[in-house]
Amino acid sequence: MKITCDVIQDLLPLYVDDAVSEDSRILVEGHLKDCDICRKEEEQLRAGQGAFENLKEAYPREEAEVIASFLKVRRSILRKRILAVCAALACTLVLLRAGHYFYSEKKDYLSLEESGLVMRGDELYATKTYYGRLAGIVSPDQKITFLFCYETPEIRKSYPSAPCDLMVTDYRKPFQMTDEELKENDKVRIEKVYYLPENFDFKDAYKASDYESENADEAAKKTEMLESISTLLWDVENGAAEIQEG
Ligand SMILES: [Zn+2]
Repeated sequence: MKITCDVIQDLLPLYVDDAVSEDSRILVEGHLKDCDICRKEEEQLRAGQGAFENLKEAYPREEAEVIASFLKVRRSILRKRILAVCAALACTLVLLRAGHYFYSEKKDYLSLEESGLVMRGDELYATKTYYGRLAGIVSPDQKITFLFCYETPEIRKSYPSAPCDLMVTDYRKPFQMTDEELKENDKVRIEKVYYLPENFDFKDAYKASDYESENADEAAKKTEMLESISTLLWDVENGAAEIQEG
């Protein structure tokens, strides 16, 4: 029986998925060796598959699996209509992306009180679960740090807030340095700790790298601006500022 390209191309999606029997695999590989047309077809299928492998890296596992299973089905049924698949996939991605945004990325700011953060002497304590919530910016001169906390639905679900009493950082001994290391690195010691207000721009905080790449004058201006809107928690000369926690 002469194997036609049609037969091979029907088998290709399964072949690319590694879901064919040994006999079919040998059959397909034998044909691919001599047939440019089918090899092209195989390349296209593999390129499609590669795109989904990339997605797995770009998206959390559950989403990648949804996309992958969606694709597998689609690819088998609409082998010759890859464009249609791509269009459908683009829609799916937009929806998943939006869902992901509201689940994982939309950040609800926590006020200092809600954050449960407190300074005691030179030590920053968390009196509530801070896992996944605590974020901060450090000024380019490494002397001032601006903390803030936020939650996403995903964080609330994964790490429900509960009372605790954990030391987060000792600002006299930041970065877990020994006394000797501290002496050598005295210039990089944090001198002030602030808590950022709600009205500051989250996106701004995540552009900290831009902040660092700005020239010194610009950076100093930005630091000054952030200081003017934030609550001072601690400074190296006076220790903890008198705020809350009696
Ligand atoms: Zn062929």
